[in-house]
Amino acid sequence: MPRILYNPWHGCHKCSPGCLNCYVFYLDRKRDIDTNIIKKSKTNFNLPLKKDRKGNYKIPSGIELPVCFTSDFFIEEADEWRDEVWKIIKQRSDVNFLICTKRIERFISCIPSDWGDGYDNVTIAVTAENKLKASIRIPELLNIKAKRKYIFISPILEYIDLNDYLSKGKIDLVTVGGESYENARPCNFEWIKKIKETCDKYNVKFDFHQTGSNFIKDGKTYKIKHHKEYSQAKKAEEYLRKTTKK
Ligand code: SF4
Repeated sequence: MPRILYNPWHGCHKCSPGCLNCYVFYLDRKRDIDTNIIKKSKTNFNLPLKKDRKGNYKIPSGIELPVCFTSDFFIEEADEWRDEVWKIIKQRSDVNFLICTKRIERFISCIPSDWGDGYDNVTIAVTAENKLKASIRIPELLNIKAKRKYIFISPILEYIDLNDYLSKGKIDLVTVGGESYENARPCNFEWIKKIKETCDKYNVKFDFHQTGSNFIKDGKTYKIKHHKEYSQAKKAEEYLRKTTKK
């Protein structure tokens, strides 16, 4: 079953090396949509509150619901809409909302006044695609208040040593993925292996969510069809579980 996404607005601006081949821009180009225009969703802005004919929420209780995966939750153009979404998030306290951003520096100015130590049902994540961006965004993530914190190394562009960050004991999950579609930059299995070893060292949950289109293993580049990137990553993760300590 495809993962349900909650996209209250759509569109983004490239702001980082990881954005170069952004899948949102790639898919929008095919549909003649200008990704740089940020638009509030006409149909799904209140998706978590929608109910079926029986009066049950369409978004089931207990799931992890990614928010703004075709935009950035903290993008400036959405400032006027975000408070309403925070209210929706608060109302659906039975759903775990996953907010992943490249704009963590805007977090403090964008949280609701009753955020406190963070809403119980919200996970905040940053994407860190290379060492430089990791060195800026992960310390900011470590400094903010949130009930759960994830790191997305995605699209991974080089090996990133996470020892300094994971040793603080504040990260719940590291998830790694390669880049997809045209001109995708390669994802090397050796990087994945070393990142998993660091996660194991600090008892941080590890996930390899997609291989990317160009996956290097034992020095050989494999061209992976997009629909197989996820299953191939799971196979690679399984292999790592069997061949490493955890
Ligand atoms: S921040 Fe994310 S959605 Fe926005 S351009 Fe970059 S990769 Fe794409």
